[in-house]
Amino acid sequence: MNYNDVLKKVEEYKKEFEVLEIGQTLFKRKIFAVERNLNKNFATAIFVCSIHARENITSDLICKMIDDGLFDGVKEFNLAFIIMANPDGVELCFSGLQSAPEGERKRLFEINNKSASFSLWKANGRGVDLNNNFDADFKRIVNSESFSSSGFAGEFKESEEETKAVVNYLKKKNPFIVLCYHSKGEEIYYNYFQDEACLKRDKLIAERFSKSTGYQIKNPEKSSSGGLKDYVVQKLKIPALTIEVGSDELSHPIKKESLEDIYKRHKSIANDLEFAYNVFREF
Ligand SMILES: [Zn+2]
Repeated sequence: MNYNDVLKKVEEYKKEFEVLEIGQTLFKRKIFAVERNLNKNFATAIFVCSIHARENITSDLICKMIDDGLFDGVKEFNLAFIIMANPDGVELCFSGLQSAPEGERKRLFEINNKSASFSLWKANGRGVDLNNNFDADFKRIVNSESFSSSGFAGEFKESEEETKAVVNYLKKKNPFIVLCYHSKGEEIYYNYFQDEACLKRDKLIAERFSKSTGYQIKNPEKSSSGGLKDYVVQKLKIPALTIEVGSDELSHPIKKESLEDIYKRHKSIANDLEFAYNVFREF
């Protein structure tokens, strides 16, 4: 799904949900949160999709979940969907340099190893990997020293408009869980140096999602830093899952033909969230 598709979906969702503009990117695209609010005192489950550009199938997935009414039965908590956290990156992935302002194209071409194909691009429009830019042991792991299609954490933590938008939004809401959707590999990550009690809680929730999706749990907390999941677990001290959708046999960016297969794995999302909410409340 590209940015234009998001604009269309957002117009449609305005009839049924609250739609907020939570930020604007360097290339002046909007970042939206779609909210299903039942009660202002309720806690919220927050979904974040397409933080990595080439993983934009996750935006299609969340819209399909909403459109098919998977959340209609939820009565105990609010829901919020950041459908596309990195629209500049997604547009580069879809349409290449022509999606960027003219003055930015030469720089982006250089960053992309002088290639005009951006289909494997993960970063935002500056060449910062948003999922390394959060305030969680920033730059403990360094994958790239400078602007890149992936793995550059930025000059300082929360340097990017997209990161700031997500962080400010999370701080304003009262989330009990954050689900970070990525592709690919059919894996779930949940740990980031939690204390023992939080680890027990978060493991229970991850195991439930693992069982319902058939996705494997992975635990390489030492190999990541500055990720959204890392930030939520470490700073907000609530559960967060990184959910890698799509088989490893598929190639990036995953095409819409695979959406139905991916979607099937996520049909019990509402029940899984209810489980997560109960575990969170009892904790
Ligand atoms: Zn990713």
